[in-house]
Amino acid sequence: MKFQAIKGVRDILPPESALWNHVEQAAREVFRTYGYGEIRTPEFELARLFEHSVGDETDIVTKELYSWIDSPKVNRALRRVRAKAIAAAYRAIHNDPAVREELIKEMEAGAFDTLNEVNRISLRPEATASVVRAYIEHGMQARPGNVKLYYLGPMFRRERPQKGRYRQFYQIGAELLGPSDHPALDAEVIEMLLAFFARVNLQGANLYINSIGDRNCRPAYVERLRGELQKVRDKLGADSQRRIETNPLRVLDSKLPEEQPIIDTLPHIADHLCDACREHYTELKRQLALRKIEYEENWRLVRGLDYYMRTTFEITAPGLGSQNAVCGGGRYDGLVELLGGPAATKGIGFAIGTDRLMLSLQDAGTAEACGLQVFLAWFGAATYPAAVDLARKLREHHLSVELPAQEMKFGKSLSLADRLGARFAVIVGEDELAAGQFTVKRLADGDQRKLAEADLLDYLTKSRTA
Ligand code: ATP
Ligand code: MG
Repeated sequence: MKFQAIKGVRDILPPESALWNHVEQAAREVFRTYGYGEIRTPEFELARLFEHSVGDETDIVTKELYSWIDSPKVNRALRRVRAKAIAAAYRAIHNDPAVREELIKEMEAGAFDTLNEVNRISLRPEATASVVRAYIEHGMQARPGNVKLYYLGPMFRRERPQKGRYRQFYQIGAELLGPSDHPALDAEVIEMLLAFFARVNLQGANLYINSIGDRNCRPAYVERLRGELQKVRDKLGADSQRRIETNPLRVLDSKLPEEQPIIDTLPHIADHLCDACREHYTELKRQLALRKIEYEENWRLVRGLDYYMRTTFEITAPGLGSQNAVCGGGRYDGLVELLGGPAATKGIGFAIGTDRLMLSLQDAGTAEACGLQVFLAWFGAATYPAAVDLARKLREHHLSVELPAQEMKFGKSLSLADRLGARFAVIVGEDELAAGQFTVKRLADGDQRKLAEADLLDYLTKSRTA
């Protein structure tokens, strides 16, 4: 039997994985300099955590959550009932009394008694909810200053797979939790994000910002928006029509070409912010300018998750088609309280779509070669011990080395070195050994020299960083 990875997930193989490591390492280094520490949370949590924080009306929760019932007893019962139901369907008997009977029997035997919230589990579609859950669970508000956390890892959403959109995808994210909501914190989070993008040499990124108000001013704006949308209901697509009731802000997110002229006429939230939110937004822009950060305001940037308030931001990058957002973030001051933590804790954070970042880096041709440095060719059985010894020493000097297990012909071995993308071939032959020297050949231009071991180590180590 032959197997394939299922729809919407994929394998990340070398050499591409080397670029992933490089990018993740850069994130760790940059975030550390801003005082962030890594948090590792589980990849699955109670379904209710996501429903409650991300929002019951969001696509993530209504359509995209991977959930299951984590109870062997319930699942056994369901399997038995289902087996009967399928059998009944085959017999084209609707409302088969046998199925009903079976279900009642299972219920009476108490199979479903234990089915409750703790049995419903979801793969995480994002990590902010988990980070906040962990913050509360471990009483991290007692820690001094702001709590600054970053994470790296897979997220799961059952979306329609396409370029830059997968069912298992990866995020690099950071969260700042603490008592203050000062806009300087928002600006510093954005600064850190851009410092990371600069470190990995992402070209052509654009920052968009917006403020979506808070619980004082947003409800009135949302009502206003709903009123305006009702007037143009007929001209909207099915999704937007539904959202008039469930989540009018999300209409602003629509990418349907025919809806664009209508959306252009809708009221802007900037004109409906309360004084406190307007001041917060003005100060954010001043703080960004102070850091020489360029941005564009986008009044339609509302983000898909319910917990955002005030500052929202997004970063786009080239080479991604319509999936061009590489990072989304914003302020979520009410989330800690919503999940049962101290009301005084405010929060802001972002999540970078690592898969899309990689696509953009590869598209820009900035992917660095992270490959093989030395191909160690040995000739004559007597030279093998010396080759093994040299390989170990080179690796101790952090060089990546390929040592053939069996002797190869000279031409074959150099051709393999070439195809493996090695930068150098080091040749260990009987003559070389007798002279206490090794021949090293730079494969890019054929430059060749004979060096004693200490000089060889020196030469290769220097060229590694060059
Ligand atoms: P989009 O509008 O592109 O669907 P989103 O608003 O759902 O993005 P967030 O929940 O804010 O995205 O997640 C942050 C980032 O994670 C996005 O900017 C994107 O780069 C990435 N991302 C989100 N969903 C996926 C996915 N299914 N596959 C790959 N990357 C994703
Ligand atoms: Mg999405």
